[in-house]
Amino acid sequence: MKVANIVQTIEDWASREPDRVVYCEGQVTYTYGQLAEWSDKLAAYLDATIKSKAPIVVYGELEFEMLVAFLAASKTGRAYIPIESSTPKDRVELILSVAQPALIISIGDWQELATSIPITNRETVNEIISAESLIYEKQPVMGDQTYYIIFTSGTTGVPKGVQISHDNLVSFVNWELSDFNLREGLQFLSQAPYSFDLSVMGVYSALTSGGSLAPLKKSVINDFKALFTTLPKLDINVWVSTPSFMKICLMEPTFDGHHVPSIERFLFCGEELPKKTAVELLQRFPEAEIYNTYGPTEATVAISGVLVTSELMETYNRVPIGYVKEDTQVFFMDPDSETIIENGQMGEIIISGPSVSKGYLNNPEKTQAAFFEYQGQPAYRTGDCGRVTEDGLLLYEGRIDFQVKFHGYRIELEDIDHHLSSVSLVKQAVVVPKYQEHKVEQLIAYVVPEAHSYEKEFQLTKAIKESLSEFVMDYMIPQRFVYVDQLLQTPNGKIDRKSLINEVNP
Ligand code: AMP
Repeated sequence: MKVANIVQTIEDWASREPDRVVYCEGQVTYTYGQLAEWSDKLAAYLDATIKSKAPIVVYGELEFEMLVAFLAASKTGRAYIPIESSTPKDRVELILSVAQPALIISIGDWQELATSIPITNRETVNEIISAESLIYEKQPVMGDQTYYIIFTSGTTGVPKGVQISHDNLVSFVNWELSDFNLREGLQFLSQAPYSFDLSVMGVYSALTSGGSLAPLKKSVINDFKALFTTLPKLDINVWVSTPSFMKICLMEPTFDGHHVPSIERFLFCGEELPKKTAVELLQRFPEAEIYNTYGPTEATVAISGVLVTSELMETYNRVPIGYVKEDTQVFFMDPDSETIIENGQMGEIIISGPSVSKGYLNNPEKTQAAFFEYQGQPAYRTGDCGRVTEDGLLLYEGRIDFQVKFHGYRIELEDIDHHLSSVSLVKQAVVVPKYQEHKVEQLIAYVVPEAHSYEKEFQLTKAIKESLSEFVMDYMIPQRFVYVDQLLQTPNGKIDRKSLINEVNP
């Protein structure tokens, strides 16, 4: 199974086997035929409605129509930008102002915000897909053209749009299908929001291999009882999630190979896989293959992977992040001198190869700071620290900056600081992570408050949290607030986050 063109491969499945199931939501299933037909109708509408080839925002959760909208954009040569419906209004506005999309397709409930960008809502989408097909000229995204743009946390409070080209995606998908032994027709767990690039690991592997997606929506995930009754019924063959989500699932004692025998493979990505989670999973699912994979959004989901075995767990005290995919090169750089370090020594992980992005949308400054060319291939500075063993196994050693992963979500601490400091009740603020076994367990905000009339600290905290939630995602709101008269400073007068982190994590 080798993929040359993403859209064409999906179309081929649809024309060969239109009744093949592509999306399975409980009793409701959708087929490749429906995906192809509906996306054609929506693509015709796009071409008839908008002239520009600027990207299209697709807003919603894990609805099937989201996939239809993605494919419709791709069929007309347009990139799409997935935005999750729980994104605060202010953040949506920031994304719109960076991206300047041609249109917003809203499958979820669109929030009222001031924008001149036209919006096609769910009712209109429903009308379009129930109407007669229109003729349009198919011009699928290909080569270096941007396939999707995923926005991630940026240090200045403005999200960065990572542009992933068609060929970036092809490089990733071919590696995933071959190195993880994914045969055709498997059912993949779809749990990560589409705005998180982990979702790509399920979506495009499934769609290009005649597989299907089983969505697990937020309403189910947030309800333990519903989650544990739903999971065994999903009939998943390939599990794709963050280790954090797995940690939650392991709280259910019956989540094992005996009760959920359909799972034959686990693919983890997005954050460190704690050794404890890996060992427990090996015990619970002795028949399944468990893979730890690693990579940033900027290099298209993941660039390395390793099969987790008992032997591997006995050899290493942190789970290795894998062997680098064949078409890609990883090397290590001294972050200060920017010189390449000999293999075996620790340094910043640099990724170079065909799945490395062309850069951040409309952000040449950040692009230049993180991307460069190396031996004719694009290269990206990950900000991750690592080294490689003699037999080519990549080991992860943490971050060199203030980016953290919390429940699998990528957060720049400076992003939270920026928005927290703009809350009127806050004079100055800095956020630090509290770790347990290399994993962020809590975000703690150190705040110098403005004069206020709240009697109790918890009232002040509640008010600050409320204001902050207008600007940042839920997972970026600190759990603990510590009020101080002044923040620790470095000798040259900057807030001393490093010392605070050391204080919080003795
Ligand atoms: P994202 O762009 O959201 O996928 O986040 C990428 C970052 O997540 C990487 O730069 C790492 O810091 C972290 N990460 C991803 N996968 C792993 C892994 N398997 N082990 C440790 N850290 C990881």
